[in-house]
Amino acid sequence: MEYRIRFVDFPEHYRKIKSEVDSVIQEVLIGGDYILRRHLKEFEKNFAKFLDVKYAIGVANGTDALFLSLKAANITESDEVITVAHTFAATVSTISQCNAKPILVDIDQYHNIDVSCIEAAITEKTKGIIPVHLNGRICDMDAIMKIASDHGLHIIEDAAQAVGARYKGRRAGSFGLTGCFSFYPAKILGTLGDGGMIVTNNKEIAKKLFLLRDHGQDRETGAFLFHGFNSRLDNLHAAILKIKLNHLPKWIERRREIANLYHEGLSDLASLQLPPAPNGGNFYDVYQNYVIRSNNRDELVAYLRNQGIEILVSWPKPLHKHKALNLDHFNLPLTEQISREVLSLPLHPELSDSDVGFVVDSLHNFYK
Ligand SMILES: *Cc1c(COP(=O)(O)O)cnc(C)c1O
Repeated sequence: MEYRIRFVDFPEHYRKIKSEVDSVIQEVLIGGDYILRRHLKEFEKNFAKFLDVKYAIGVANGTDALFLSLKAANITESDEVITVAHTFAATVSTISQCNAKPILVDIDQYHNIDVSCIEAAITEKTKGIIPVHLNGRICDMDAIMKIASDHGLHIIEDAAQAVGARYKGRRAGSFGLTGCFSFYPAKILGTLGDGGMIVTNNKEIAKKLFLLRDHGQDRETGAFLFHGFNSRLDNLHAAILKIKLNHLPKWIERRREIANLYHEGLSDLASLQLPPAPNGGNFYDVYQNYVIRSNNRDELVAYLRNQGIEILVSWPKPLHKHKALNLDHFNLPLTEQISREVLSLPLHPELSDSDVGFVVDSLHNFYK
């Protein structure tokens, strides 16, 4: 079905920056600059500056950003890492791929890790926590950093949905040992395929990550220092992302404007639970997704789709309920309830105010 309002609008997104993107692609092709070249270095430098961190390491995707971070933190067999089930599968799978054990805890009303559940989940085997800044809102980082320092745990931030978000003035990704980002096309800062970034303020960890992503080889001496991986951010993607990073602050502001329009338009519908509106408090949310909750979610989703509005449900079945993953022993009541109630409305900088108005009106019509 051809939606009147798409969840993301890639062609329109490209059209707005076409000349800049076209010319940088040509520049890369004419220069033959494909792997570990100038554009990657420049983008890493600019991205680090944007987040106010010391190092940024471009990798193949957001999943690898998490996996290589866990490797760099020496997470290994029989270690435990605490995270949530209400996230994209990669957060949990990368823990398993290190042969470590994911320990899942419940979420709070903001759909982020419930910090009051963390301490009860800590054992002698716990080595780290992966807070996921879901939907563009940062977790309660004061509480998480306090727990981490009390118990000597590594924090690896899954900031794949929160590029540019702030908590008490600091950017997502800048709190932990590392921060992990995804440039998957539908992310707030997306490329033409897969891409990712790890950021850190720790010099040793940065050095290790630059080696881990490139076969463990010191390119200057030719020496292989350990068995590594091939997980580099392509220079072509970096070149495009460098252009897009210049537009990012303006795109985030537009996302917040749209979130505000939704908030004003939907606040009177008592049957819906809305995310927090953008405000000047501790949280600067970037709204990767505008996620609302409804008791009759499935009927509402069907109705909106029928009106030509593309709706996403993330995620209808909680991760720990997928039997094959062997995570079914965790008891996560709010995770399960939220999975039954959530739906994501279209929110991207290409939407006009009248597009947003149409979505708001459709929601009112459903409840009439
Ligand atoms: C997108 C995403 C990832 C994975 O990123 P990829 O680039 O697709 O590998 C990890 N965690 C969360 C929360 C995500 O949204």
